[in-house]
Amino acid sequence: MADHYEVLGVSRDASPEEIKKAYRRLARQLHPDVNPGEEAAERFKLVTHAYDVLSDPEQRARYDIGGDSAFGGAGGFGGFGDIFETFFGAAGGQRGGRPRSRRERGQDALVRVTLDLADVVFGVHRDIEVDTAVICETCQGACCQPGTQPVTCDICHGSGQVQRTVRSLLGNMVTSQPCPSCQGYGTTIPYPCATCQGQGRTRARRTVSIDIPAGVETGLRLQLPGSGEVGPAGGPNGDLYLEVTVSAHDTFSREGDDLLATLEVSMTDAILGTTTTITSLDGPVPLEIRPGVQSGDVLTIKGRGITPLRGTQRGDLRVGVQVVTPTRLDARERALIEQFAAKTKAPPPRLSEFHQGLFAKLRDRLRNG
Ligand code: ZN
Repeated sequence: MADHYEVLGVSRDASPEEIKKAYRRLARQLHPDVNPGEEAAERFKLVTHAYDVLSDPEQRARYDIGGDSAFGGAGGFGGFGDIFETFFGAAGGQRGGRPRSRRERGQDALVRVTLDLADVVFGVHRDIEVDTAVICETCQGACCQPGTQPVTCDICHGSGQVQRTVRSLLGNMVTSQPCPSCQGYGTTIPYPCATCQGQGRTRARRTVSIDIPAGVETGLRLQLPGSGEVGPAGGPNGDLYLEVTVSAHDTFSREGDDLLATLEVSMTDAILGTTTTITSLDGPVPLEIRPGVQSGDVLTIKGRGITPLRGTQRGDLRVGVQVVTPTRLDARERALIEQFAAKTKAPPPRLSEFHQGLFAKLRDRLRNG
């Protein structure tokens, strides 16, 4: 697509007033009432389109960052093709004087999904709505009104290129440029398809069904080849990328394929032992706490962790025990504990090495995570 600023002959930082002036001047030259030629009509269309885009501040801003004005860029993706064209000229990469094809590969699309940790443990099916381009049903990507055809451009005679002599320090140089009449396609479309305005594709919302495998992590991108948008003029589809974010869980955190959590155990349960049921991401799991369990002991429940992305052997659920000491005792409870203390003659507090056990690390991880 020709650069809108070039079409109007204004600089990229032109004021709205300058743009309007340039448009008026060109419109006076090219308007079909004044200038009935086919070339003028084609240029008038380009000029009018350029003016439509650049006179609307919102559309102009989008165009400046490379948004495809014909497609609005509403999906949050779009426009890489235009960026390349802006940087490298309308016929970027098309050397050898051949016309360029209207058919191009569609852009890749990126969609973000947020998953719960439970989705990661088992994998999950999602239907994701994507704002994308689909092939135009009226013209099936041909860009022409049904029953009509593109015609050979009578300016470049189908080559897509025009020669221009440029004076330079080295003398006259003949350069080849994309034909301004057909934008390098070698053909023009006299009757563009009304449904797609000659783009061969239309905007649509499409639902993509995806099985997200177990074991994915935040930042991982899943590639779905051919699920991106259809290209201009019915070109092949781009790819769809799904970027995963795993939201933090209230209870469980992840370490490799293992799940970590803390289990608070009352002082009496820690002394006497007990059988309890914990709610894992798989549902209830029975757990035996042996008498005399200590703060920092780690209880491992085999196979209740995460299924790795490549593999079937699930990780473990590791539970760090934290013994909870009662902070308020009534007189009778206090008397019982004093009796117990007198009976057991527990050793006085004793200094030893700072505890750097697994549970300390686990706790830090839970705090920081
Ligand atoms: Zn169409």
